[in-house]
Amino acid sequence: MKKSRRDFLKICGAAALGTAVPAAADASSAKVFTDNKDFSMLYDSTICVGCKACVTTCKQVNDLATEQGKFDKNNLWDSPEKLDSNTRTIIKLYKESPEKYAFVKKQCMHCAKPSCVSACPVSAMQKSDNGIVFYDKDICIGCRYCLIACPYNIPKFEWEKPIPKIVKCDMCKFTNFKQKGITACAEVCPTDAILFGKRGDLIKIAKKRIKDHPDIYIHHIYGEHEVGGANCIYLAGVDFNKLSFPNLPNPSAAALSENIQHTIYKGFIAPVALYGTLCFVAFRNRKSKKDGDNEQS
Ligand code: SF4
Ligand code: SF4
Repeated sequence: MKKSRRDFLKICGAAALGTAVPAAADASSAKVFTDNKDFSMLYDSTICVGCKACVTTCKQVNDLATEQGKFDKNNLWDSPEKLDSNTRTIIKLYKESPEKYAFVKKQCMHCAKPSCVSACPVSAMQKSDNGIVFYDKDICIGCRYCLIACPYNIPKFEWEKPIPKIVKCDMCKFTNFKQKGITACAEVCPTDAILFGKRGDLIKIAKKRIKDHPDIYIHHIYGEHEVGGANCIYLAGVDFNKLSFPNLPNPSAAALSENIQHTIYKGFIAPVALYGTLCFVAFRNRKSKKDGDNEQS
């Protein structure tokens, strides 16, 4: 059962009154890859020309504000420098020398066992059956556990807003994907550096590129296995560490944290029990003080 902010407050209120507790928040539906039905993106850094059409189109399609660059005093350009509350995807430049450089696209990896989903106590972060990890702002209670849990430092918080939301790529689930069956970035990319499709097919394409051009590619498909695999997979011509991808173990720590997190919050029993205990202690202390005052008078 999903819970909204209002439900959350109602439950706390009900606890204060000693009333019944509703059923548990569902455990996440995070899963491992067993078939070819997951939608994915393959980004090939060796093909990307750094035009940033993907960044601009993402903002247009998903109604995100532009960012003023430090160099742009007249605010003529949209110049995000990093992922933030208005930027779901970004292109960064890695440069070793004038001859040796590479572009890299960053966005949510859409992990198979997403830590953000596991950490979220109210299931505001969810993984769809088709592989997309998305966010429900109406359920979110603003705890920001997802920010801490993500091994890629992806989710961002709208610190500047009175009622903030989490911002991250949702593969255009409610916009371009819903209307056209493809992410906006993949649709607009002029060099096909971003391919959109079923994960199994994209893995085959990536393996074939490495096999056909072993001199061009690092022999590693990033996202194939890291923390249980991801729906965004990468090819590159330079070491992934240099492109600021972390070295991560293959098994996901998310499964463990999910069990702990969702057991603690199951039915809100633990928070409600804690709240009830605090109320009891406060009531008892107040009563003791009152009794002491009466004895003195
Ligand atoms: S990259 Fe981070 S935000 Fe995206 S699914 Fe994985 S854990 Fe969640
Ligand atoms: S649109 Fe394609 S080529 Fe242009 S920056 Fe994005 S990924 Fe690279």
